[in-house]
Amino acid sequence: MAQHFLLSTAARTLSLAKVARMSEEEARAAFQAIRWADRNGQPFCPECGGVVLYAYKSRHLWKCKACQHQFTVTSGTIFASHKRPIRDYLLAIAIFVNGAKGHSALQLSRDLDCQYKTAFVLAHKIREAVGATDKDAKVSGEVEIDGMYTGGYVKPANRRENRRDRRHVRNQNGKRQVVIVARERQGKTITFVTKTEDAGVPGLKERIALGSTVYSDEAHHWNALGARYLTKQVNHSEAYSTPEANTNQAESFFSRLRRAEIGIHHKIAGPYLAAYAAEMDWREDNRRISNGEQYLVAASAVAKHAVSDRWCGYWQRSMDIE
Ligand SMILES: [Zn+2]
Repeated sequence: MAQHFLLSTAARTLSLAKVARMSEEEARAAFQAIRWADRNGQPFCPECGGVVLYAYKSRHLWKCKACQHQFTVTSGTIFASHKRPIRDYLLAIAIFVNGAKGHSALQLSRDLDCQYKTAFVLAHKIREAVGATDKDAKVSGEVEIDGMYTGGYVKPANRRENRRDRRHVRNQNGKRQVVIVARERQGKTITFVTKTEDAGVPGLKERIALGSTVYSDEAHHWNALGARYLTKQVNHSEAYSTPEANTNQAESFFSRLRRAEIGIHHKIAGPYLAAYAAEMDWREDNRRISNGEQYLVAASAVAKHAVSDRWCGYWQRSMDIE
């Protein structure tokens, strides 16, 4: 059996420096090889799956014989209708994977010498593509769960007499959200966002396979999982880890997420919280493979991810609203 492209020596040795030295022709060929890796880089029609194509070499375009659809190497992917050289997109992916704690859009705009807005959307497209790789995945076996509250910070008033008790719901701003994590020991991580930990219970039931053992802290809302799984709880007011139970893996994920927030993005609450959580989840799950492999996994996710509803034409839409 022929070796899979992503495992070949040629693929493994790709790196930021190599990508930077690529000509646009080489970058296009690399993207093509990654996108259609299953077919040794041979393209097929994204509309109908037809494999008989006319190639317009000078315009870097293919036309499907069956349905007449014309497409380029990025058509139908998250980088469709691209305006910059393909090499810049590959560079963005290489830079993205190299930042173990993430990479800010501002930095990326300096790296690529492009506008902040361009870098912002580009980074979010990569984030969406890598995040989608385990969107519907389930975890099983020994699974640790936990929640991390974030956002909704209410600044205390300057004068003491004006300050309010921020523990009361009426004095909060409703922007607080919680990232729920479920982590296999020595395995996969999944995340999603809800308003409260309590509200995360149905999602956990969906995403944790039956027959798993679930480890959590002693918060009472996790009790609802007891009917479905073998559950073990650790009382954090007494000990963080006991011979019976701990949630150290879940905590370690949140520590990574917090470091990304403090060190890189400064604020990851709000509408993009789930996207940042999914990115850090991807980084956690792929941390043991080489940079070159991470680059390929990410590039492959990007090349296989359909056009983004959220990020395609993002700034054009926001201009319309203004
Ligand atoms: Zn076709």
